[in-house]
Amino acid sequence: MKGKTFYLLTYGCQMNVYDSRLIAEILSKNGYKEIKDENKADIIIMNTCSVRKHAEQRVVGRTGDLQRLREDNPDLIIGLVGCMAQNLIDTKEKIKGVDFMVGPDNYRELPKIIKGNQTTATAGCHFVPNQKYKTGLELYEGVYANQDNKVSAFVPVMRGCENFCTYCIVPYVRVGLQMRPQKDILKEVEGLLKKGIKEIILLGQSVNEYDNNKVDFPGILKMVSETSVARLGFFTSHPYYTTQKLIDVIAEGENIYKWIHLPLQSGSNQILKKMNRKYTKEKYMELICNTREKIPNISITTDIIVGFPGETDEDFQETIEVMKEIHFDFAYMFKYSDRERTAAYNLKPKIPEPVKTKRLSELIDIQHKIIHIKNEQLIGTTQEVLVQYKGRKNNVWRGKTKQNEIVVVEGKTLPGEIVKVKISSLKGWTPYGVITDKRK
Ligand code: SF4
Repeated sequence: MKGKTFYLLTYGCQMNVYDSRLIAEILSKNGYKEIKDENKADIIIMNTCSVRKHAEQRVVGRTGDLQRLREDNPDLIIGLVGCMAQNLIDTKEKIKGVDFMVGPDNYRELPKIIKGNQTTATAGCHFVPNQKYKTGLELYEGVYANQDNKVSAFVPVMRGCENFCTYCIVPYVRVGLQMRPQKDILKEVEGLLKKGIKEIILLGQSVNEYDNNKVDFPGILKMVSETSVARLGFFTSHPYYTTQKLIDVIAEGENIYKWIHLPLQSGSNQILKKMNRKYTKEKYMELICNTREKIPNISITTDIIVGFPGETDEDFQETIEVMKEIHFDFAYMFKYSDRERTAAYNLKPKIPEPVKTKRLSELIDIQHKIIHIKNEQLIGTTQEVLVQYKGRKNNVWRGKTKQNEIVVVEGKTLPGEIVKVKISSLKGWTPYGVITDKRK
C-alpha cells in the first residue's frame, strides 16, 4: 500500500457530500485512515462538481496550489473524483498535477486504483474508464456512508438523472436513473437512528421521481417517517413529479419538515420550454397554490437561473413577477453557465455577461427583501428548533425550525435536542431567539 492517510475535499451538491462519506468508508475498510490536515496526507481526493464553469475553475486552481505539497512529499497522490472527473474522462482532457480521475459510479474501485497508482511524476494522469456496474447501485452494496455529522445525515434513494434539462450536465456524467431498493434505504436509515442521528434528508437529483414499480416517492417518505426519526426532509424535487399524494404525506407526517424545494428556474414559458422543464409558469403557480392550501405554513424554496440563452428583458420581468407573487422563503439564484455537451450550449443568442450580472443582482435584491419581510413575521413567535451545532459564543447554537429555517438560539442545550425558542430579533435576515423550553 503506497499511502496510508487520506484527505477529502468536497465541492458541489449534497449528493457529493454523501458520496465523500461513502468514499471515506470504502477507504477506511481497506486500511486507509482519514485525516483532516491536507499537509500531512498521503492521498488527497477532490470530489468535484461540474454544474457551473466556476466550480471547475476552483478545482483547477486548488490542484495547482496543492502541488507545493509534493516538495515535502514526492509520493503524494492527488485524485479527482465526481462529476467534473467524469466529464474530463469522457472528453479525454487532463489536468496537470492530477494522478487519477474516477467518475461517480466507480468509487468501489478506489482502493485498487490508489494501490496501483504512481504519481504523475512517473506515470502521468491515469484515467479510470467509466466501468459501468449492472445497475449502478452496487456502489452501495454492503457499505453505508461513514457520516461525520452527529445530528443530521443524507440518505440517497436514487442515483443519476434522465430529465435532460438543457442547461444541465448531470445526465451526462451521472448516467442512467437507478432506484435504490426500499429495504436498503430503510436499513441505512435504521443504522443511522441507532447511532443517534435525529435528522434525515432523503437525496436524489430529482428525488420525487423515485418509483421502483412497487413503491413511489411518497411511499418511501411515509415509510421513513414511520421510523423514530425526529426530522425528515428531501432534496431536490422536480415540480413535474410533485403530486398531490406527496403533498398529503408531507402534511400528515408529524416529523416531516414543512418545507419543499421546488426549482422554478424561470418565470417565462418560452424559456421553460427551451430548458425542457416539463411545466409551464401556470402549472407551477397552481402547484404552489395547492401546496399552500393543504399546508398553509409550508416553506417553499427554489432555484432560479438568469441569462439563459435567448432570455429577453420581458422573459426576465416574468421571472420577477412570479417571484413577487409567490414570495419564496429562500432562493438559490445563478447566472446561466455554458456547459459543453448540453443542448443549451448550442442555443443562441447568448446573453452578455454584464446583462446576466445586472439581472442576477436585481433578483437577489428582490429576494432578500422578501426574506427579510417573511422573517420579521417570526419575531415574537415560538418555534420548535432542532439544535444542530454550537455557535462561536458560549450557549449560542444553530438549529432548524420545522420549516427547515436556520435560526440562532441562546440557552442551555446540546446538538440533537429539540427546544422551544421564542424568536426575538433578526440579524441580517437570520432569526435569533432564546430557548424557553425543551421538548426532549
Ligand atoms: S432534473 Fe434537470 S436540473 Fe436536475 S439533475 Fe436532472 S437534468 Fe439536471
